[in-house]
Amino acid sequence: MSQHEWHAETLGVRAGSEHTPFGENSEAMFLTSSFVFENAAQAAARFGGQEPGNIYSRFTNPTVSMFQNKLAALEGAEFCVATSSGMSAILACVMGVCSAGDHVVASRSIFGTSVQLFSNILKRWGLETTFVQLSDPEAWTAAVKPNTKLFFLETPSNPLTEICDIAVVAEIAHQAGALLAVDNCFCTPALQKPLALGADIVVHSATKYIDGQGRCLGGAVLGRKDVLEPVYGFLRTAGPTMSAFNAWVFLKGLETLHLRMEAHARNALALAQWLEQQPRVERVYYPGLPSHPQYALAQKQQKSGGAIVSFDVKGGQPAAWHLIDATRMLSITANLGDAKSTITHPATTTHSRVSAEARAAAGIGDGLVRIAVGLEHIDDIKADLAWLGHQD
Ligand SMILES: *Cc1c(COP(=O)(O)O)cnc(C)c1O
Repeated sequence: MSQHEWHAETLGVRAGSEHTPFGENSEAMFLTSSFVFENAAQAAARFGGQEPGNIYSRFTNPTVSMFQNKLAALEGAEFCVATSSGMSAILACVMGVCSAGDHVVASRSIFGTSVQLFSNILKRWGLETTFVQLSDPEAWTAAVKPNTKLFFLETPSNPLTEICDIAVVAEIAHQAGALLAVDNCFCTPALQKPLALGADIVVHSATKYIDGQGRCLGGAVLGRKDVLEPVYGFLRTAGPTMSAFNAWVFLKGLETLHLRMEAHARNALALAQWLEQQPRVERVYYPGLPSHPQYALAQKQQKSGGAIVSFDVKGGQPAAWHLIDATRMLSITANLGDAKSTITHPATTTHSRVSAEARAAAGIGDGLVRIAVGLEHIDDIKADLAWLGHQD
């Protein structure tokens, strides 16, 4: 049976593995900055590109290559380049695909630091970005300019779990002669395959669910080889490559990705259903709930609702902070993708740099709380949030 016929769970465990003559079963970690050659002629052939093989770990490293090949198999991508963080994956994607004078259309509800990257840093280098409403196809169409090169989005959105129809926006991008890049960090390939839906590029923060236990920073860009060739060129020249140590940790993470994502989503759905019943909860945002306005699209596009649940607590910020401070087990941190459940107040943390008006326009209220549901027993997570069950 070839790798192409394996199921996703098997790809996670087996795809991309290579072995040294020592016969190790767990993949080796190659902590080496450079590689040695048999002789001067081989060195010349490697540098000249006539002979494949490793030269220097800013270019390629066997542990990093194994991670890239495994993730590519899971996303159904021809090519993958690993990066030092999720942000450097987004930067490398833009640096590879766009030039000064080009235009980008991006969803307004992408990761906060991604907004900063596009609206501050890349703008200084001559790249203009128009931000649009994620779930409104007409807004994407209306934002197109003759120099539009890239569409960029994240679905479900953070923290309100709004869904974008990837196939529809991919079609709009292609009609405009642009490429569509999807940040697939929240779902991972275990729950959503953007390339199969028409996206050209997938970017990841491997820091989140690919690691799965909150240890390392990393990222990846995936897609067709011809599209990613300049992205790889940027990485090997500018240098935000993934370390072999982190690649090894992520390789281990990918082996259990499907199991973990199923368990995260099962817990998240149970928590979302419970939250809907609590007297101190005003509204729950979770794509796996029939009450979600885009439930049908989520069911079609994702394998489950995912692991992120947000909800409005009655009583605004004081109530939201009270709930957070009343927890004894949940980790109070803005990170996500960990076995440990995390709880955060978006208005005063992840979205505090957004103006109050813009936050209100985006629907991020002062009583909003986000939980990235971990792998603890669901009853213990509910018990930690018992304050929500009290009648005022
Ligand atoms: C965390 C995150 C990033 C940035 O990743 P880093 O690894 O922290 O650089 C990008 N996109 C999304 C959706 C994220 O959650």
